[in-house]
Amino acid sequence: MRVVVIGGGVGGFSAAMVARKAGAEVTLIERTDLLGGLGQVAGIGLLGDYDVVVGQERALGGADFVDVIETIPAHRSMDPPGYQNVLTYNVTKLDSRLQKACREKGIDVRLHSRVNDVEMSGNSVKAVMAANGNWISGDVFVDATGTSAGIPACERWGFGCVECILRCPTFGNPGGIIEKKMPTFNRKGVDGKTGIIGTSVMLPISSLADNVQAELHEKGYYAIPVPEGVEPDLVRYGRAGASTTALMDQEITKKNLLLMDIGGFVKVTATGSPLYARSFRKFPGMEDCLIMQPTAGARGHLIIGIALALRDNTLKADGFDNVFCAGSKGGHSMCLMDAMVTGDLAGHNAVRKGVGQRPLELPRTLAAGAYVDLVGNAVRAGKETGRHYGVIEAGFLKEMNVFREGAEIAKEVERAGLTGVYRTKLC
Ligand SMILES: Cc1cc2nc3c(=O)[nH]c(=O)nc-3n(C[C@H](O)[C@H](O)[C@H](O)COP(=O)(O)OP(=O)(O)OC[C@H]3O[C@@H](n4cnc5c(N)ncnc54)[C@H](O)[C@@H]3O)c2cc1C
Repeated sequence: MRVVVIGGGVGGFSAAMVARKAGAEVTLIERTDLLGGLGQVAGIGLLGDYDVVVGQERALGGADFVDVIETIPAHRSMDPPGYQNVLTYNVTKLDSRLQKACREKGIDVRLHSRVNDVEMSGNSVKAVMAANGNWISGDVFVDATGTSAGIPACERWGFGCVECILRCPTFGNPGGIIEKKMPTFNRKGVDGKTGIIGTSVMLPISSLADNVQAELHEKGYYAIPVPEGVEPDLVRYGRAGASTTALMDQEITKKNLLLMDIGGFVKVTATGSPLYARSFRKFPGMEDCLIMQPTAGARGHLIIGIALALRDNTLKADGFDNVFCAGSKGGHSMCLMDAMVTGDLAGHNAVRKGVGQRPLELPRTLAAGAYVDLVGNAVRAGKETGRHYGVIEAGFLKEMNVFREGAEIAKEVERAGLTGVYRTKLC
């Protein structure tokens, strides 16, 4: 029984690992030369109340992505202004560690293999065609292609191609198999226009002043108050989805530029990046700084939030018998942990489907179950979630009544009868 996962970002990696644990043969197809997708520029791996979702995901038998980033920490247990309990990872080592984990599990990884076409039989996908013209067949498919539609979307709704980590001019535009056959949902920025931009940029630490470098080395972060006279860039901010996430859109992150060490680079995070990217050199200690990612610098960022799948709570895509979706494709996602939990569930359910079992719906008493339900319903209703919370945010966890502490975290999985379910061999 073969599961074919399309897209080697965090959602696709997680789906592939869990499908393999359940005993399937797994092929992971990635259009670029690297695994990790947007995770290669993310860097803030864990923050806030992540204990709940990571603890439950581990009790379920998943969380392989966390296992990987914990081997390459840049800094741990940081409390920068506006954030608590942050673990950053070294983004420069992410691809090699993800590839290593796949190799060790016996996953067949195909790089340089953009999926261009789909062969259907009724509502079932039979095979997908990779860039070299080869057809790759499978029993069940997972679409984990993210929510960037590449240059056409960045030209239409953004700032043109900004030469981001997705590297479309080289590897072709990203895009999933679901939107080839079924209607999908596009998110909107703060300005009400289609698509949202990524809000953070990367600078080499070596381009910052010595005192900033020293503090970054010691503490892992550096906060600089916005100097008088620096005007915010409201056009770029308007294309962001930042103000729909509670963590990013805080007054403190609008008044301070926050730099975090993500392994040789700093990430300028939260609302500070879209608001002030054009003025970074006016900030003390940043007079010589250079934006490395995206390559187009302060011009803007990539457009994401395009072609989200309509799907049920097992993550099966509407209109298909054998396609699940993982990662940001499956709903409004703001963080890596959102992508991981949906990846874990989609990978597991792909195998259930392949062996003729009913796919699993996580109970809403679990953080991941509540998240999958909330964002899936929002997409189905054609809406933003309003003030969206990712699966790691205390606000989300408390509103959904899924916040747990200590031993109660894993106990909730036990109560649901799901301990180790993602580790169980199904074939
Ligand atoms: C600039 C930026 C910074 C961020 N920073 C953080 C952060 O610090 N912390 C955090 O928690 N979250 C962060 N996020 C959010 C987080 O990175 C994403 O939500 C998450 O990585 C999405 O993962 P994904 O697997 O769904 O999609 P993606 O990462 O987009 O991966 C999709 C993969 O599919 C591949 N693909 C697409 N189409 C095809 C095709 N046709 N054939 C084959 N392969 C294909 C792509 O090449 C890509 O590798 C950030 C997002 C952005 C944009």
